[in-house]
Amino acid sequence: IPLSYFSGIGVASKHGILIKGSNYLEALRYVDTVVFDKTGTLTEGVFDVVKVKTAGVSQDELMKFAAIAEANSNHPIAKSILKPYNKSVDLNKIEKYEEIAAHGIKVKYENNTILAGNEKLMKANNIKFESNKEAGTVVYVAVDNKFIGYIVIADKIKKDSEKAIKDIKEQGIKQTVMLTGDNKEVATSVAKKLKLDKAFSNLLPNEKVDRIEELYVGRNEKEKIAFVGDGINDAPVLARVDVGIAMGGLGSDAAIEAADIVIMTDEPSKIAKGIQISKKTYKIVWQNIIFALGIKIIVMILGATGLASMWEAVFADVGVALIAVLNAMRIMK
Ligand code: ADP
Ligand code: MG
Repeated sequence: IPLSYFSGIGVASKHGILIKGSNYLEALRYVDTVVFDKTGTLTEGVFDVVKVKTAGVSQDELMKFAAIAEANSNHPIAKSILKPYNKSVDLNKIEKYEEIAAHGIKVKYENNTILAGNEKLMKANNIKFESNKEAGTVVYVAVDNKFIGYIVIADKIKKDSEKAIKDIKEQGIKQTVMLTGDNKEVATSVAKKLKLDKAFSNLLPNEKVDRIEELYVGRNEKEKIAFVGDGINDAPVLARVDVGIAMGGLGSDAAIEAADIVIMTDEPSKIAKGIQISKKTYKIVWQNIIFALGIKIIVMILGATGLASMWEAVFADVGVALIAVLNAMRIMK
């Protein structure tokens, strides 16, 4: 039985799915709801700047302030803004740097306070800004409490995501849900394209946990929830759910640490593969239990009635063990 689990974990790792314990391999079989983070999980997490709109400054200035704000961030959004801004930022001049989860960034640079983030960040700082419903993620920028424009960036859905959703449905998953800190327009468009059952947008990290708690209401032991994410802000949810799955390539260290399963290739379709391996392992574990105990009981009865020879006893012991081992190795195929 342990060997079956070892084989299961082994074959999963061959597919780039690292499972941190046989209990998680077992739990995968009971998952009926899979919850996804959006950015970096279902989408590439690589954004391109699609539009820059200024308010009272030049485009170069807007990009410069945005780049300064994002220079210390590891968020996919930060990388996408720094990429088209070819010049380097003097990090020594950044005096105060604050990354506000699901809002954006606040920095003090020379004598300016720069804000770069979403509508929530602007509202939290009482900044008058032009709200808009661009098809993409909008990064608003303000300097010394004055709005100076916004940058629209767009992300692509991973090639693998559609297959991932289809495959997990085929594995019998009842419900697929998406949680994101991004705006409603982007969330609805992704959810529709991928045919997800539910999508929640504009969430703060603690609100992601709240949505998960709501999903847990009225469930029993055998209906488990898996969550797949990549960011620092996903760590609390990864720790809360029955099976936390992190993207190993794109994912932050905190997410990988908090997760029970790590997908090295960043492909969400590996979840279905993991469930499939879990089911196969379970089947073989039970075949071995029934086979081994069955033969032993039969030979014991034969032995008690004087019908079993020494060789039958040897088979019931060593032979059965060998066959069970060979059976366990079938998982690898
Ligand atoms: P998700 O839950 O989809 O992975 P996050 O929670 O990481 O997204 O981010 C939610 C939102 O917060 C982003 O869509 C963006 O509007 C804003 N945000 C977060 N980090 C940054 C950043 N470094 N720069 C600008 N905006 C940011
Ligand atoms: Mg994310």
